[in-house]
Amino acid sequence: MQTFDFDLFVIGGGSGGVRAARMSAQRGARVALAEFAAMGGTCVNVGCIPKKLYSYAAHYGDSFEESHGFGWVGEKPVFDWDLLKANRAREIARLNGIYVQLLDTAGVKIIKGWARLLDEHTVEVDDKKFTAKYILISTGGTATVPAVPGREHVVTSDHMFDLKPFPKRLLVVGGGYIASEFASIFNGLGSEVTQVHRRDMLLTGFDDDVRRFIAAEMSKTGIKLQLGAEVAAIKKTDSGLQVELKGGTSLEVDTVLYATGRVANANGIGLETVGVALNAAGAVQVNDQYQTSVPSIYALGDVTARLQLTPVATGEAMVVVDQLFGPAAGKKPRNMSYEFVPTAVFTHPNIGTVGYSEADARKKFGKVTVFRADFKALKHTLSGSTERTLMKLLVEDATDRVVGLHMVGPDAGEVVQGFAVAMKAGATKAVFDSTIGIHPTVAEEFVTMRDPVKD
Ligand code: NDP
Repeated sequence: MQTFDFDLFVIGGGSGGVRAARMSAQRGARVALAEFAAMGGTCVNVGCIPKKLYSYAAHYGDSFEESHGFGWVGEKPVFDWDLLKANRAREIARLNGIYVQLLDTAGVKIIKGWARLLDEHTVEVDDKKFTAKYILISTGGTATVPAVPGREHVVTSDHMFDLKPFPKRLLVVGGGYIASEFASIFNGLGSEVTQVHRRDMLLTGFDDDVRRFIAAEMSKTGIKLQLGAEVAAIKKTDSGLQVELKGGTSLEVDTVLYATGRVANANGIGLETVGVALNAAGAVQVNDQYQTSVPSIYALGDVTARLQLTPVATGEAMVVVDQLFGPAAGKKPRNMSYEFVPTAVFTHPNIGTVGYSEADARKKFGKVTVFRADFKALKHTLSGSTERTLMKLLVEDATDRVVGLHMVGPDAGEVVQGFAVAMKAGATKAVFDSTIGIHPTVAEEFVTMRDPVKD
């Protein structure tokens, strides 16, 4: 029988790879993990975590102003960008250390360097060869910038956390998660922000009411939204970057952020050598068990470009671990469903959503009843803010099941997470109606919506 150095060799130390490595080792497998950069991947280093920290920072700008209505008087404090960057860097370094410690404690061998597949059971890292019964590709993804003239002058989300100096004028290109979040964050921190998006609504795929509502709210916060617009060229000048838009208008900014999507990190790791099949988008193709076209090689997370969300990658990792090394004692093997995956966009205000958009719900379920509320939250009766909140429920007529729940408003992600459990459990509108609200909260609106929107 063939013997291997390891039972599992993980390539890539992001959220999915680390989870798979750690849990496999805890089930008794001999595991190695190769990573060439800081441990934690996109989420920890240049994604979710620093983004959320900066989003908190950005909210303070409004909070100081709103506090006057609640009796707090005095000068607004001054924002120190370098201090925020230093504090973020310290926290991220701490998290990098925790990831390493978690792997060490679990008994995972960490191999620093760039890993490349040599055959279906062999990986090479800096001229050293390792064999493994199974190999897991969890190399993540990278921001992509289209071939616009002057693209060498633009930055991607990777660079936004350490910009020097702070951009007084920022142009954000794109209308997805990353573009909309960074537009809100830098606007909140004090930049003059313009967001240019090629479609007439932000956030393709989200519910249309949410898309319209967030655009109005973001505009109210001061972001200049240019919808149905595209960049023609970017030129460097003595005073900044001159951006020409198709149609002839132009603007000058200090920084141009392109947030126009991400591609799988599937190059340079020997996938072609071994014959791992990629899909049309260049992502690793996997079956329902995350097995690639080579049976001993698995892949998960952003490199497979399904749902590019950290909790999805960690969920996929648990499925792979259960399958390769058995479920935890007394538990059934996990499976992964991509239906009712909750998600939040940390725009200001936040978006939280779970289930289907109205358009998708009508396509899938036929007759659907819509409940919608649009109101000014209690807090803003004194804060002076004109911010409004949107809440929306979609109910399948045939079963009374709530199949879509959407919110634009403060802490929408926190609110929607709890409702996501109910929706996974198949909660009907009758169950929502019989749930007692918590008063006074914004979230109680989801259990007190009585009158449907007329068709
Ligand atoms: P998205 O796919 O969400 O958005 C890309 C945006 O760029 C879209 O608006 C798209 O327009 C636009 N675009 C694409 N190509 C071009 C082009 N050539 N010229 C102009 N515009 C273009 O990608 P992101 O980069 O924002 O984020 C990647 C993924 O990361 C997200 O899908 C999400 O899964 C994840 N993420 C999750 C977060 C969270 O959970 N809070 C936060 C950040 C990222 P169009 O709509 O026309 O396609």
